[in-house]
Amino acid sequence: MAKARENGMFNIQTEKEVSFAHIVDGSVKCGVIHGHNFVFVIEAISRTLVGGMVTDFTVLKKHIAELDHKLVLSYRQVGDGNRVYANGKEYIIPREECAILEVEHTTAEEMAKYFAESIAEEYTNIVSITVKVYETERSLGSYTLMKPYEEKFNVRIEKKDEEVEKLYE
Ligand SMILES: [Zn+2]
Repeated sequence: MAKARENGMFNIQTEKEVSFAHIVDGSVKCGVIHGHNFVFVIEAISRTLVGGMVTDFTVLKKHIAELDHKLVLSYRQVGDGNRVYANGKEYIIPREECAILEVEHTTAEEMAKYFAESIAEEYTNIVSITVKVYETERSLGSYTLMKPYEEKFNVRIEKKDEEVEKLYE
């Protein structure tokens, strides 16, 4: 008789604080250059461990660290040379002082989704990832990404451990 499959999951959570500026298009209050001490909380859930870990915290935080002390822009706000177009205004900001993200708006919600997707892409063992972006202690936007693993898990029940490992490679 097949061994009963465990249903537990591993969960790790880490946070990273970074200070950066942004300009939110279409917003009256946030449509000017202003900054926050953003706190990113990353939660990753996995059914399997790699080297005893869901993943390394340092690796998880590396993308977010790249935003520190930058002007964070949507790709839509980037013009030629050092030009930045935001909220109907033109700015000249040295490109090395900017971080450009593939988001429509640099809101907490869109950044949460962007980083959840970037992180999930790198780790095949992660089933679900949530990124929370705090703009202030009391305001946050978050995104939870669930990876489509059902097919693999259906197979997994029938497989031995070594075969399961191969599924995640
Ligand atoms: Zn803001």
